[in-house]
Amino acid sequence: MPAAELVLVGFTAVFGAMLGSFLNVCVWRLPRGESVILPGSHCPGCGRPIAWYDNVPVASYLVLRGRCRHCGVRISAQYPLVELAAGVIWAGSLLWFGLTFEALRAALLATLALGIALTDAQHFIIPDEFSLGGLGAGLALALAPGGLSLLDAAIGAASGFSLLWVVKAAGDWALKRGLIGGEELAQVLEEGETPTTLGMGDLKMMAMVGSFLGWRGVLLTAFLGSVTGVAVFVPLLLLKRRSPVPFGVFLAVGAVVTAVAGDWLLGWYGSWIAVGGR
Ligand SMILES: [Zn+2]
Repeated sequence: MPAAELVLVGFTAVFGAMLGSFLNVCVWRLPRGESVILPGSHCPGCGRPIAWYDNVPVASYLVLRGRCRHCGVRISAQYPLVELAAGVIWAGSLLWFGLTFEALRAALLATLALGIALTDAQHFIIPDEFSLGGLGAGLALALAPGGLSLLDAAIGAASGFSLLWVVKAAGDWALKRGLIGGEELAQVLEEGETPTTLGMGDLKMMAMVGSFLGWRGVLLTAFLGSVTGVAVFVPLLLLKRRSPVPFGVFLAVGAVVTAVAGDWLLGWYGSWIAVGGR
């Protein structure tokens, strides 16, 4: 790889890691209803502000050996890992798609998916800032050359929302009539909580996914999300570990796979149908 390209990939990785650092702030604060701008980063142990040189992505965590400089409280390894993941996402998108808007779209979608997976897994919340904010970004990026047209992005968003709306309506109907869930679900739910299959966050998230990937991408994402969700949760249920299912985590995985390999998967599926139909 020529030196200039190497420098560009390096800068992109650093930019991604810095974005990952901000994503950490969002993942911590958005589910708690706090501002992501003010106040600046502070130690969860002693509350002292974190200086810029102690807030360098990944590096500071390694230098400080995962502890606060002042009080020595342990800092979660999630921080450097998310920064590292975001760096890999942005550099990887550049390498995979080249210096194109496609790379920007993929990197942004994967970053949003990472944030959603983390908040949904830890709090069962998909913040509107990720889903609706991402929807706005997806529609805006559709104005850029290449990829989806604005109409395709809008159709994708509408299909993502309505597909999950139908699934939710059917699931909630079955739930109400005791066809699924039953006593096991009642044990999981807190008192006074309405039983529901999918949250509104899942619907808004799929609108966002649709604005990036179009309606075909929505179908593939929902399919991949369901398959991985079932693959992970059926064994957990068999082990009697009952918990609500953060479906957004699996949709996030499905969306990233679709963004990277969707065309290839759909092409393969299309040719398989063509051969099978003969
Ligand atoms: Zn501290």
